[in-house]
Amino acid sequence: MKKYDIKISHKPNNVTASIFTQVKPRIEQRNETHTVYKMNCSECDACYIGNTKQYLHKRIYEHKYSIQTNKKSTALAKHAIEQLHSIDFENTEIIKKERNQLKRNVFEMIAIQKEEKRTVNSRADIENFGRIYHNIIHRNDRDHVT
Ligand SMILES: [Zn+2]
Repeated sequence: MKKYDIKISHKPNNVTASIFTQVKPRIEQRNETHTVYKMNCSECDACYIGNTKQYLHKRIYEHKYSIQTNKKSTALAKHAIEQLHSIDFENTEIIKKERNQLKRNVFEMIAIQKEEKRTVNSRADIENFGRIYHNIIHRNDRDHVT
C-alpha cells in the first residue's frame, strides 16, 4: 500500500524547520477536487475526516448547510449540532489528492485510523476498511460514480 506523499526538499540551513513543514498537511485549496480532507472543531480537540470527488468548497458548503439546517447527515454535523460547537471550515486541510475513488477511500480510512482518538467519524467508517482493502488487493480499480 502506498504511503502518504511526503516530498523531501533540501534546505540545508534549517533542517528541523523543513521537516515540520513537510509533515504538515497542505492547507485548504478550495478549488481542488478528489481529495481526502480534515476539518477541526474550533472548540474542542475533535476532527472529521472525509473524502470527495467534487470541489472542496462545494463539500464545505454542504457540511455548513447540514449544520445550519440541523441535519445530522454526517458525524461532523452531528458533533456540531449536539455539542453546539462551531467547525473551523476556513482551515480545512487536504490530506491527500487521489483521483481513484477506491484508493481515496483507503487513504480516508488510514487517516481516520491515525486520528482515531480525535476523530468524530463513526465506527462504521473504520469498519469499511476491511472491505475496501479487500477490493484493492483484488485489483478492483474501477472508479465508482456516486
Ligand atoms: Zn467540538
